[in-house]
Amino acid sequence: MVSKNIHPVFHQILNRSDKEDRLRQHAKVIWITGLSGAGKTTIARHIEKELSKRGFLTQVLDGDNIRTGVNNNLGFSEEDRFENIRRISEVSKLFLSCGIICINGFISPSIAIRQMAKEIIGLENFIEVFVNAPLNVCEQRDVKGLYKKARAGEIKQFTGIDAPFEPPLHPDIEIRTDRLSIEASVKKCLDFILPEITWYKNKNQK
Ligand code: ADP
Repeated sequence: MVSKNIHPVFHQILNRSDKEDRLRQHAKVIWITGLSGAGKTTIARHIEKELSKRGFLTQVLDGDNIRTGVNNNLGFSEEDRFENIRRISEVSKLFLSCGIICINGFISPSIAIRQMAKEIIGLENFIEVFVNAPLNVCEQRDVKGLYKKARAGEIKQFTGIDAPFEPPLHPDIEIRTDRLSIEASVKKCLDFILPEITWYKNKNQK
């Protein structure tokens, strides 16, 4: 017999699918990987703006907002890079369970580190975007002045300079940001993403 003081609420708890129905969207994690200066932040912001215009609810996670908050105790050693991405993946999963589209821009430099993210988030939820620009282009852009510091030895283990970057082997989307305009890059992303997140009242329509 169920005790008088226990009030099961499982039937009252909304699951992800209920929340997706309410938001009229399908949640995904859009995971943008690439060198510093390749265009992750730029692409993430533009995707968010375009999705928002179309009525989608999104959350952008990127290096700066995560490393100054939830991950402010982590550095750039191999171990800390894995822990950084592990926590980000768990946070992304929370957004997924709320039905929210999560747009993540993180260097996530190795195949193994992105594999961990995929395993935590679930392959079916994961859209991998490789923003690809050659190192010399990223270094010329030097958006945050970090390459200059890395070359001067002021920053150690900087990806592309004295730490490796392993390109994804089979990204869902690859953008050569040294060849395409920002608008064309964003369009290429949206062409892939929109069919994945569009909600249909009758799910068989998809
Ligand atoms: P990251 O977040 O990868 O470090 P940022 O987005 O901060 O890179 O910087 C990328 C720079 O490259 C910006 O100055 C942006 O205007 C420029 N850029 C030029 N073409 C593109 C493109 N097609 N996509 C994204 N960024 C581009």
